[in-house]
Amino acid sequence: MKLLILICLINCIFSSEEIFPRILIIGSGPSGIATASKLLQNGFRNLTILEAENRIGGRVHSIKIGDYLVDVGAQWVHGEKDNVAFELAWPLGLLERLSENKEFYFSSKIYGSNGEEISLNASSSLVEYLMENISSSDSINESLKDLNSGSFGEYAEKKLMDFFKNYEEIHANQHKPLLHLLDMVEMTNEAAPTWHNLSAKSVRDYPELITANKKEYSADHVVVTVSLGVLQKNIDTLFKPQLPEKKINTIKSLSFGTAAKILIYYDVPWYINEPIGLWGMYWTEEDRKQIENDPQKRWMLGLSVGSKTEHKPKLFVLWITGPHVNEMEILPEEMFQEQVKDILKRFFGKACNLTEPSIIKRSSWSTNENFLGTWSYLSVQAEANGIDNKDYAEPIMKNDSPVLQFAGEATAYHFATVHGAIETGFREADRLINYYNKNN
Ligand SMILES: Cc1cc2nc3c(=O)[nH]c(=O)nc-3n(C[C@H](O)[C@H](O)[C@H](O)COP(=O)(O)OP(=O)(O)OC[C@H]3O[C@@H](n4cnc5c(N)ncnc54)[C@H](O)[C@@H]3O)c2cc1C
Repeated sequence: MKLLILICLINCIFSSEEIFPRILIIGSGPSGIATASKLLQNGFRNLTILEAENRIGGRVHSIKIGDYLVDVGAQWVHGEKDNVAFELAWPLGLLERLSENKEFYFSSKIYGSNGEEISLNASSSLVEYLMENISSSDSINESLKDLNSGSFGEYAEKKLMDFFKNYEEIHANQHKPLLHLLDMVEMTNEAAPTWHNLSAKSVRDYPELITANKKEYSADHVVVTVSLGVLQKNIDTLFKPQLPEKKINTIKSLSFGTAAKILIYYDVPWYINEPIGLWGMYWTEEDRKQIENDPQKRWMLGLSVGSKTEHKPKLFVLWITGPHVNEMEILPEEMFQEQVKDILKRFFGKACNLTEPSIIKRSSWSTNENFLGTWSYLSVQAEANGIDNKDYAEPIMKNDSPVLQFAGEATAYHFATVHGAIETGFREADRLINYYNKNN
């Protein structure tokens, strides 16, 4: 993924006509870098990017784990059509189509917190049903009129209960735990605390100043690309004068989610010969009750799947979502390491011949003050109140000039993605290019 960011920069073909308004870009994630690269391509020369982290890339970040460079943040390019990230990376041979290796990802097995496993046949049918009948926008659109709450959760649970009726192999006492597991699985795409918060309309098919060191910068235009989470937390102090009330309300009413990865590296991977790519994890009602009020353990209810990683056989990744991701991120290191080993034993130890992990790392997007979450989603409430991220993307104008602009994933049509973030950077660069074309 990081290569994509560099391509954005390298792609700058300098034009001969140079333009010198002072442009300040806050944030060097995909949207900030896309803004800068397009402006450079179009002759703008007086650009400054301010970045709070000691690296570029934002939520695209790779770290070294064992033999591998591993994506702690964004990992996949979602879709091809209408996807600027695909258009940048594909011609350079940096991508591989998922359909070329479908079995790797879609063969799955589900394990309970009591170590019991659901048969491969039932697990695979359930995952296939989820993919084909639930997570597709066509099927949701047909059902929208029958929903009371308008939430994706209401829709998905109705559909899944229909599935369970015809599938006796899955026992009645497993229905509720499996609904919770599938809620968490879906939330690894959407990052809401639960699918009941998520508007059914938001589910998409993917064919998607003064600085901390007190230095002052003056600019003709400022492009703010920090995450929605950062804006929401600091909205009252970041801007002087304050933003218009309508803008503040929009920003506060949009939703920013949380999710996390636990990256487990094995010298001797126990799953290497398993013919499955995804290990689903559900909590029995009894086990759930034991941890749901324990602030050091309840994050585990957000566990959804473990997965092998293509081309990185020694890497096993656990996905966590739900309302308690932050509590996992701040656990003392030793306790965290022990808990992860216990989880692996608890779910997979009975059925599989486990080996000892050599490195365990976790992401910390939700507690890092420069991100405060992972990506935005459309909540039931925002949908009901007609809150639109287009209003967030509107610039603040002064004398017809866009003086304060907003880019970043949460302002995008393809929100929650890298390509959406890049599009917004290009959008705000185009706004400036058009403005100077008109006024010069
Ligand atoms: C775990 C995870 C997995 C993901 N997986 C995928 C995926 O597979 N595919 C996909 O398309 N998308 C994925 N995403 C989403 C994708 O990473 C984001 O949508 C995208 O990176 C957002 O880019 P951005 O430029 O809007 O924001 P960011 O990348 O957040 O960039 C904003 C920058 O602003 C900086 N900043 C914050 N505050 C300040 C400040 N006060 N001053 C200066 N700088 C500041 C931040 O440090 C950051 O560098 C994933 C995200 C996460 C977290």
